[in-house]
Amino acid sequence: MIVIVGAGLAGLSTAYHLAGVPYRLYERESEVGGLCRSYRKDGFTFDYTGHLLHFRQPAIRTLVEQLLAAKLHQHSRKSFVYSHQTYTEYPFQVNTHGLPPEVVQECLMGFITTLLQPASTIDQKDRSFKQWILSNLGEGMAKHFMVPFNEKLWKVSLDELTSDWVSWLVPKPELKDVVNGALGIKNKAFGYNPSFLYPAADGIRVLPESFLPGITSVTNNIELMEVDTKRRHATFRNRCSGTSVTEHYESLVSTIPVPELVRRCLDLPAPLKTAAEGLRWVSVYNLNMAVAREQVSDKHWLYFPEPEFPFYRVGFPMNFSPSLGRPGCSSMYVEISHRPMEHQPVDQLVAQARAGLEQAGILRPSDDMVVSDLKDLHYAYVYFDRHRARAIPAILSELERRGIYSIGRYGRWEHTSMEDAIGQGKQLAERLRLEQNHAMSA
Ligand SMILES: Cc1cc2nc3c(=O)[nH]c(=O)nc-3n(C[C@H](O)[C@H](O)[C@H](O)COP(=O)(O)OP(=O)(O)OC[C@H]3O[C@@H](n4cnc5c(N)ncnc54)[C@H](O)[C@@H]3O)c2cc1C
Repeated sequence: MIVIVGAGLAGLSTAYHLAGVPYRLYERESEVGGLCRSYRKDGFTFDYTGHLLHFRQPAIRTLVEQLLAAKLHQHSRKSFVYSHQTYTEYPFQVNTHGLPPEVVQECLMGFITTLLQPASTIDQKDRSFKQWILSNLGEGMAKHFMVPFNEKLWKVSLDELTSDWVSWLVPKPELKDVVNGALGIKNKAFGYNPSFLYPAADGIRVLPESFLPGITSVTNNIELMEVDTKRRHATFRNRCSGTSVTEHYESLVSTIPVPELVRRCLDLPAPLKTAAEGLRWVSVYNLNMAVAREQVSDKHWLYFPEPEFPFYRVGFPMNFSPSLGRPGCSSMYVEISHRPMEHQPVDQLVAQARAGLEQAGILRPSDDMVVSDLKDLHYAYVYFDRHRARAIPAILSELERRGIYSIGRYGRWEHTSMEDAIGQGKQLAERLRLEQNHAMSA
């Protein structure tokens, strides 16, 4: 029996692609989807912050398009950076036109300096995120966007983070693109998501739900509590009845965060347990708001690098899909990161967010707020640091030796997208299916 833990996209995709191989899928929450869920409140639909689909793998795009048939709409990205009281297009590095001339000059000269410097002698994998920013984008872009934005998001000095995850998320531009961007000449789309797909109605929840007709066994409100990796026993607790059940498995597919999994594996060696406890991450307050005024912004989402704004990003769901809110209103998701064990009172967060939105000219003092609702995403962005680089390969390979496959964004402890979670589930299911077929024919 294959036991799958967690019905987010990685777990759902594993189950979907196991087709014909017996499995059981258990989910702690009362609904499937994990981070890729949506909920309704007072006539508005909110995701757990904006979840937009962008694809690099044609096979996963085809699968999602088949699953959602005609339910997806394509949008050309309208995302901007708000700084120096000005909106400039995202990504910052190729769109400095419109900023004060001295800022544009610092960004341009800093970037040119990086091109004149000899190539860094520091090995790519040993370079800190800060060193990566300085050597790839230069001092000006570091000062005016990359460092303040990322320190606000990560809540840690960028010297502590490594740079092995950056290259696909932060595009390294060519000189002509930086110059064109400084002069306001636009002839190219940049970044990993210049266009994106999003469901026409009901929010991103329709994506995980679209897997369900292809899934034979999923049980909600069941939480993994303990794993005996030698005997291959997993113990679950029913969150409604409080009863426990122990299952024997040949393979355990876990999509829950690595530290949570390792804590539950009672018989793993102590050094691995210590390694898992040392993994770090940042949490995100997802403040969902709505006001009784139409189109407070015509953009999809905005980045805020400056420290006077408490949030690092704000998005406008009704600009992806007008059906996500009440006519005559606007909805927003506001993202504020925080250290996992440090918390702020809700009222304070709402007041700070509102003040920031007014300062940026998005809200007016007269706006009537009709919804404000806070979700705390405990595991949001994992740290790529020197500890992770050593710990994760050791933990994952020891788990796999014991028949436990840890996949998904927090199962592999990485910065991956919905597409990646689906892709990892598919790949693992195909491997387990093959192994099962070999075992049966041997
Ligand atoms: C702020 C933010 C914005 C994002 N925006 C985008 C975006 O725009 N586009 C994009 O492609 N991706 C985005 N992502 C990434 C995307 O959300 C993830 O890649 C994807 O949803 C991960 O799916 P998963 O199945 O790996 O993990 P999860 O969704 O975390 O699923 C894990 C599941 O395991 C369950 N679980 C946990 N513990 C237990 C237990 N003990 N027992 C049983 N079940 C358990 C959880 O309830 C959950 O359902 C964003 C992520 C964040 C944090």
